[in-house]
Amino acid sequence: MRAFRLTGPGSARLVEVETPEPGPGRVRLDVLAAGVCRSDLAVLDRVGALGYGLPFTFGHEICGRVAALGPGVTGVGVGDEVVVHAPVGCGRCRRCGRGETQYCDHGHASGAAGFGLGLDGGMADAVVVGADRLVSSAGLVPAHAAVLADAGLTSYHAVAGSLARLSDADAVAVVIGVGGLGHVALSILRALTGATVVAVDLREQALELARELGADHTATTGTCAEVVRAATDGRGADVVFDFAVAPSTADVTPSLLRKGADLVLVGSGGGVVPVTKPGPLPAGTRVSLPFWGSRAELAEVVGLARRGLLPVRTTEFGLAEAPRVFGRLAAGEVVGRAVLVPGLG
Ligand code: NAD
Ligand code: ZN
Ligand code: ZN
Repeated sequence: MRAFRLTGPGSARLVEVETPEPGPGRVRLDVLAAGVCRSDLAVLDRVGALGYGLPFTFGHEICGRVAALGPGVTGVGVGDEVVVHAPVGCGRCRRCGRGETQYCDHGHASGAAGFGLGLDGGMADAVVVGADRLVSSAGLVPAHAAVLADAGLTSYHAVAGSLARLSDADAVAVVIGVGGLGHVALSILRALTGATVVAVDLREQALELARELGADHTATTGTCAEVVRAATDGRGADVVFDFAVAPSTADVTPSLLRKGADLVLVGSGGGVVPVTKPGPLPAGTRVSLPFWGSRAELAEVVGLARRGLLPVRTTEFGLAEAPRVFGRLAAGEVVGRAVLVPGLG
């Protein structure tokens, strides 16, 4: 079968590998769709610093059809369509027991953060994962379902952590970076809160998508301070979700917040926000660094999608086009999420 594998820093190739057989408690999925995340670009460049074993197959945003069951697997059948909860932990601690594998204290000891991040992932014709990681995606378009496993789950976890700050009738949320993650976050905010939403991006196409998804106001990094002031009668936003955390967004986010607000840093674009007293952040600011999400949250995200509340924007490409798609994402040419579909070639 084919697999798009990371072989060394800056080096990824589509290669032929043996089709993996599922061991005890595991299943093999025929991959229906695998999303391409900006983190994949970061891993490609910086894998040397991450401690992942090499080589491995990319793809941590996976939708597949169950093709083979390993010994002892119950509760799932051949032919079921599923999404994968991909962050791995030790599997033995309390957090892993609660499905919060993304926050396992021992996770990185295994040399991997998840399937597609140190362990073989879904940018392949097939992938083997634990049967306990599956959430049914029956009835969803596979390319849309795949996006829920990271862009959806990470955004959901980020929003869920700040719901208390968004409960007032006049609450205002800012979403910076309307890409793969940020565009799903807009719909999640719409589904879970009554907040007024300001969407911020550098690209006009991204802001157009934000307006289609119901953002109340749109702005660029240069104009967002003014737009947020106008939308909040000068007081500032209740929560700022930064899906870029670039130097230029880190410079502006403190000025967007009211007192007692949340600054939620999801992106890994190298921006630095000084957390000092006194400093640029208003009194009472809570800063958080959410990472991915739990298995239960993935089931909740899938539930929202089933109710038609998460209109994901995807562009689909064949698996063979993986190198070109990575290039398009790096060049800022992707609107919403690019998804690899092995069935397309
Ligand atoms: P993406 O490229 O699809 O989207 C990023 C968006 O941010 C784009 O629309 C881009 O135009 C915009 N942007 C970039 N710089 C900007 C700036 N200075 N001002 C305003 N907008 C700007 O990327 P993605 O896949 O959505 O990932 C977003 C970030 O989140 C990446 O850094 C990625 O590594 C990170 N990420 C974090 C987690 C987590 O669990 N914390 C999970 C997945 C991805
Ligand atoms: Zn990701
Ligand atoms: Zn653990």
